[in-house]
Order: sequence, then structure tokens, then C-alpha cells
Amino acid sequence: MIFDVIEQSLRQPSRVIPVEALLGGCEGSRMPDVIAERLTPAIAQAIVEVCPTAALGLVEHDGRACLKLSYAECIGCGRCVERGLGAVIPAQRFPRCGVPKSGLARIWDLDSRLEIAAPRPHPEIARDQICRLFGRALNIRQLDPGSCNGCEAEIVALTNPYYDLERFGIHFVASPKHADMLLVTGPVTRNMADAVRATYEATPSPKLVVAVGACGCSAGVFAGSHAIVGPVDSVIPVHGYIPGCPPTPAMLVAGIIEVLRLAMGAQSASK
Ligand code: SF4
Ligand code: SF4
Repeated sequence: MIFDVIEQSLRQPSRVIPVEALLGGCEGSRMPDVIAERLTPAIAQAIVEVCPTAALGLVEHDGRACLKLSYAECIGCGRCVERGLGAVIPAQRFPRCGVPKSGLARIWDLDSRLEIAAPRPHPEIARDQICRLFGRALNIRQLDPGSCNGCEAEIVALTNPYYDLERFGIHFVASPKHADMLLVTGPVTRNMADAVRATYEATPSPKLVVAVGACGCSAGVFAGSHAIVGPVDSVIPVHGYIPGCPPTPAMLVAGIIEVLRLAMGAQSASK
């Protein structure tokens, strides 16, 4: 019986997902996108009222009434999609993984129905470029100072044969002393804050820190809890943010690559 299963799986074609399909993909993440031309003040008001994490808000920008969407706080609950009367839809592409926190906010002018900060272009980057960026070796230490384990479930999926993170030379390591990057999930609980600082200190420089999930980016649904210190950047410096609750494996890969790409760009600019 077991030999039949093995024989059958060996006969199947390779299912590893191509890198082009990974970058910018967000299927299953439930991240919202706004169709600017369908947005009205009444719809904006309605979706702000149902948002449970204040990811959506009405703000004033240069004297104009605007809608702001912060993906750092968004938990992908879908309420804005339900109440948005077609002006809010599940995002098809999501080019905002691994960016600085300021890159996670979008603003639409409710009068002109135009987006004020244009979306970031999707970084087209081929597989051989990715291998050059990593030098075929990036060691990641994953750190969980308070996650619900939802983000971990997606991170674990990165090592399966479908996503196969190791094809890029990215490995998970057990010790921060062997790590180039810390991938931190969850809000930082009071009990774990010292451990997070100690892990950061134990990681050799140059090091990169990535905050993962709505909890890592903004404390998510735990914001305001007495049991937490706050998001990851309230305890250690963060270089890039990967939103979502949880982010999909594709978003995680794209985010890790983007953090590295931005860090290398900054490095070459300072030379
Ligand atoms: S999907 Fe995100 S932005 Fe929309 S209501 Fe839920 S938390 Fe708010
Ligand atoms: S972002 Fe969502 S899935 Fe990740 S730790 Fe927080 S609650 Fe869990």
C-alpha cells in the first residue's frame, strides 16, 4: 500500500511553485483593496465603522477629507468587503510586503476619488537575481514572543516541497548566533520582551529584523492588552514589515526578498 503511494507521488510532475507566481501574490490573505472610483463618503463612513482594528479611518490630508487604510493593523476580517458595496474587494496582488511601516498606509481623497499615495510598483525580480541577492545563503532565526501560532503555520509551509524556500538558499537556523535575519511574529508579551532584546543582541551584525503579521506590525487584535509591550518595533529596530493575519507563504517569501533588496540598495547607496 505505502509503496503504491510512493510510486504514485514519484510519477507526478514537480509541483514547486514558480518564483514569478510567488512575488506579489496574496491569494487567501483576505487583504482588502479599494476601487477608488466607486468610493463615496457614505461607503467610507460605513467601512470605517465596521473595521475592528482601526485599520480604516477618516483623516484630513491637505485640508481634504480622505480615507486611510493601514495594512499594518488589518487582520483581513473581510467586513469592509461586505459593507463596501463593491468599492472594497479582496486584493488580487499585494506588492507591500517587506516594506518600511510608512509603505503600509494608503490614502484616498473622497472628493476626487483618487488615491493620494500611488501603490508601490510590484518589484519584478527573477530567480537568478534572487540567488545573487542572497549569495545562496540567508540564515533566518524565527522568533515567537507572543503569536497565536497562525503565522508560524504559514512560516512552516515555506519549507514544504511546494514553496521550497531552500531553493533560494534560505535556511532556518536554531541559534541567533548563526542568523542573518530575525523573523518575529506576534506582539511582544511582557514576559518575552527581555528574551527578544537578548536574541537581537546575540545576532551578529549586520542583521535584519522583519516583523510578521498584523501582531508583529501593530500588535493586531492584541493592541491595548495589558499583557503585551507592543508590536515588535516597540522593543527592537525593525527593517521591514509583512502584514496579514496571517500572511500567506507567498507574502512571506516576497517580504523576505524585499527586505533584503531594500537593505542591499541602502548599502550600495552608502558606499
Ligand atoms: S479587512 Fe482589514 S481593513 Fe477591512 S474591516 Fe477587516 S481589519 Fe478593517
Ligand atoms: S497576525 Fe494573526 S495569525 Fe499572526 S500571530 Fe497575530 S493573530 Fe495570529
